[in-house]
Amino acid sequence: MTAVPSNKLRILGNDEIAEADYKPSDYNHFVDKGDFVWGVNFFSSSFVRIPRETYRRVRRVLDGERSEELESVKSSLIQGKFLIPDSMDEMKYLKTRNHLSRFGNKGLTLIVAPTLRCNFGCEYCYVDLNANKMKPEDRVKLGKFFYNKLTDGTRARVVWTGGDPSLAMDAVEDISHRFLEACEKKGSPYEASLITNGYLLHDDMRARLKSSKIHRLQISIDGSKEFHDSTRYLPKGEPTYDRIMSNVEDTVDGFNIFLRINVDRKNSDAIPDLLEDLKNRGLHERLWVYFAHVYDANENSAAYGHNCLPHEHYAKVEAKLMRLALSNGFKIGNGGLIKKPINTFCGANSKNYFVVDSKVNLLKCYHDFGAADKHGIGHIGDEGQEVVTNPYNLMKWLGWDPFEIKECTECKVLPVCMGGCSHKIMNSNMQVENGCARLRFSMDEIVELYGELKTQSLSSGCSGCT
Ligand code: SF4
Ligand code: SF4
Repeated sequence: MTAVPSNKLRILGNDEIAEADYKPSDYNHFVDKGDFVWGVNFFSSSFVRIPRETYRRVRRVLDGERSEELESVKSSLIQGKFLIPDSMDEMKYLKTRNHLSRFGNKGLTLIVAPTLRCNFGCEYCYVDLNANKMKPEDRVKLGKFFYNKLTDGTRARVVWTGGDPSLAMDAVEDISHRFLEACEKKGSPYEASLITNGYLLHDDMRARLKSSKIHRLQISIDGSKEFHDSTRYLPKGEPTYDRIMSNVEDTVDGFNIFLRINVDRKNSDAIPDLLEDLKNRGLHERLWVYFAHVYDANENSAAYGHNCLPHEHYAKVEAKLMRLALSNGFKIGNGGLIKKPINTFCGANSKNYFVVDSKVNLLKCYHDFGAADKHGIGHIGDEGQEVVTNPYNLMKWLGWDPFEIKECTECKVLPVCMGGCSHKIMNSNMQVENGCARLRFSMDEIVELYGELKTQSLSSGCSGCT
């Protein structure tokens, strides 16, 4: 998406404009700033800055007025897909794209926990801390499963998580080599990332990551040193902030690091101190940051619920934090400020997407780790086959359809959300707002921030928006 720095909407050649009549897109959003108006279309990713005088004419066209005088504005609106042909059904287009992506049998995504054990004792964690490392015979099964499921020539994506996979790097390396060998045979591109607390990110781990072709790391931090050390500690309460920061400094130039900054009711005021520390260490231009809403994901973390910010409140806090980060020259990861249109919110509702725990149980969402008996769909068999033992759970995930949810079908940000987190929605008795993309609740703030960035008025050094 490119910005329009001029004070005019873009103009398309008249020959590109059909005779058909047009209607406004369902995905237009305008933010009135007085002298001018920001306009965004979430379906086409068009973004414009419209002078007030022009906006009056824009409104007339969108309201159905047609005249010679309004022709150039109409052309611009058609080009940006703010106006679409009468015969076009945007919802059907999105639905088709969503279904093809989920059931088109292309590509494979695995979220793998080589162990559910962790070296930290965070209060809000939802995983089973007593679990063991994946056994060698299970690694063989997982390698076969990967080979069986991957369609020739299509992309394979693997995310290593846990527990903390840094406690099982020998397993990560062993399994990665099996995956890489399968990709070689199938002519498939391979990409892998790893989620870790960063505490053990030293030379040996870095070498194993390289050998496993893992170049992208996600590391979680809970705010300033004071706050982080009060929530992300070793089992006996020992602090971890300084060591993680030092490991990040030693690692940042060889890997793409995405710092996930967890935000809850207790620490939201402490995030500015963290950003300042990162900047003082010169890390702001060398890694990506993004903010994450801490919430009580399942039964294991339910006791932490009172510390979590309500979803809509969090969205407003996050918008302010993104402004602060961008104005200090940080790069925003995880899709940037406004995501490009996507096919699915996540893979949990897709056929070729599996979450695999350390006993090679198969699940559809990593928030069900530690509860495979109740929420899993089955396990990997000896020959690497998918053994479905709970078809009702499988149907629950695959049968999920955002286009059957009224809120989603009426939602302006549907093209960049595509139905939200189905785990959160299902687990909150279908309260859709619990799973919504934050953008739904902070649209004006984010559109405004995006516009400022695009017109370079916030920070000339920023490259955070995509
Ligand atoms: S369902 Fe929600 S929690 Fe589960 S993988 Fe998708 S986005 Fe994540
Ligand atoms: S989950 Fe929420 S934000 Fe996403 S499309 Fe549905 S209503 Fe909109």
